Order: sequence, then C-alpha cells, then structure tokens
Amino acid sequence: MFTLNHVSYSYKADSPVRAQALSDISLSIKKGECVGLIGHTGSGKSTLAQILSGLLTPTSGTVSFEDTPLFIKNKFNRALRGQIGLVFQYPEYQLFEETVLKDIAYGPMNLGATQSEAFHKARTAAQLLGLSEEVFDKSPLQLSGGQKRRVAIAGILAMEPQVLILDEPTAGLDPEGREELLKILKNLHKSTGNTTILISHSMDFVAGFTERIIVLNRGSLWMDGTPQEIFSDPEKLKVAGLAPPPVSELFSLFGFPVPPVFTAEEAVSALLPYMHQGGGSVCK
Ligand code: ADP
Ligand code: MG
Repeated sequence: MFTLNHVSYSYKADSPVRAQALSDISLSIKKGECVGLIGHTGSGKSTLAQILSGLLTPTSGTVSFEDTPLFIKNKFNRALRGQIGLVFQYPEYQLFEETVLKDIAYGPMNLGATQSEAFHKARTAAQLLGLSEEVFDKSPLQLSGGQKRRVAIAGILAMEPQVLILDEPTAGLDPEGREELLKILKNLHKSTGNTTILISHSMDFVAGFTERIIVLNRGSLWMDGTPQEIFSDPEKLKVAGLAPPPVSELFSLFGFPVPPVFTAEEAVSALLPYMHQGGGSVCK
C-alpha cells in the first residue's frame, strides 16, 4: 500500500534553524495491515503521519501509494484525495459545525458528495464509532471528551478512506474513554479491514492492538517487527527512550514460564492456570 524510499524531512529546510525530523526512512506497509508507530516525543511520528497523508512533502526520497506516486512535483497527488484519512492529535479542537451529524458530514460534502449521501455516510461512520442517534442533533460542544474525540474520528471515517492514520488517539482521555475508544478501534479495524496506522507513545496500547510495530528513534527507523520481537529487546528499546509494557516487565521479573505477555488481558489468561492450581492465589 505504502512504499517509502529514503524519505527525509526537515522543517525550515532552507533556513539556518533547519530541524531534521526524519532521516532516510525506507519501509513498506501492506494493504489491510494494522501497524503501531511508536517513539519518544520528538522522534518524528507526527511528521511521518503527515507525510503519509500528503500534508508534508518529503525534503528528499519518494513515497508511493498503491503504485501511484503520493507526490508529483513536490505536491500531494490530488488523484489520491480522500483515500488517506489522518486523525490529528486532539482532533476535537477542530469540531466547528452546529450539530454532530453536520460535523461528521463535512468531509464527504467537501469531497463532492450530495447532502443526502454525505449524511448517510455520516450516520454510518457515527454508528461505527458507537455514537447513538441521540447525540446526532446536539452541538459537539455538549458532548464528553471521549464522545467529541469519536465525533472527530467519525468525520474522517465518513470520507471512506482506504487508510486510517490515528495520531495519539487516546491522548488526554480518562481511563474509561480510553478503554472505550480502544475497543471501538479494534472492532473498526475488524469490520472495515482498513489499513490502520496507530501512533502512540504508550507501549501497552499498541501491544494490545497491532500485529506490527515500527519504532522511530530521533527521526530514524530504529526497529520494525512483531510486538513479540520488539518487546523482547528491552536494551534496544531503552536506547530509543522506550521500555516494554509494564506488564511484560513484571512477568519477566517473576520468571514465569508463560508465553510473552504484553497486555493486562493477556496477563490474566496466562495466570489463570496457576490460579486454579493454587486455590486462587498466584503467589503461594
Ligand atoms: P513526535 O510526533 O514523535 O513527537 P514530531 O514529528 O512532532 O515528533 O517532531 C519531530 C522533530 O521535528 C522534533 O525534533 C520537533 O521538535 C521537530 N518539529 C516538529 N514540528 C516542527 C515545526 N513545525 N517546526 C520545526 N520543528 C518541528
Ligand atoms: Mg506527535
């Protein structure tokens, strides 16, 4: 789906305050893949997301999308408009319409859908994000933080992109909103089969979600593998300013003879046999 060849990006490339954000990134992402993009703050995750969605043109290197160049003469290839959906960090700041449904319908209208088509797409997207009919005619400002976030994501989904890129989708949500969104996003990937790129600095979040993890370190591609491959090399992660999910660290300290564990749910499944043996307590 995406092929990046030697992609670099510098902010203010022609000025003395040039800031190199990405250096020589080569990778490809297959159709339908669900990929976690992780890295310390400032490692280049958001820059890469903006390149993949055509908002920033690489300073050097090439990007193609399904064999079509993503950029032509240093500009986003308009033929690919609407195919790559980027949900920015804190996307709810950009909600502006009077009602939830109008806000979600804005994207498809902008891509040329008629009003009734756009509202139909908006309803479908809202349902996929677990938003009930009752909120459709409310002002987005009346909603909870978690709901607002879901409205913003629905607005991107309503454009029916082939790729969904989410930049820190759970940042700033309370634990309940976070859990809810995580569940919804998992189901979404199952039901749409969309290529999904999930940016996070939270290890357990991506571990519970993705089948492949790409790690950036100071603008370079540092690691690329399954969660198991990535988290079994804590030393290399540490150099990138990261650590495996707390649960897997705990399990390796215990030295439990269980398969690798990355999330709380996996920990529970791994511990169940011990609980039955030990009459309810795993520590006896
Ligand atoms: P991340 O999303 O992983 O935190 P970013 O892609 O936002 O990282 O940033 C990568 C690097 O680019 C950082 O060093 C950051 O300071 C720099 N950077 C990001 N945005 C800008 C900008 N608009 N102008 C100059 N430098 C920037
Ligand atoms: Mg960022």
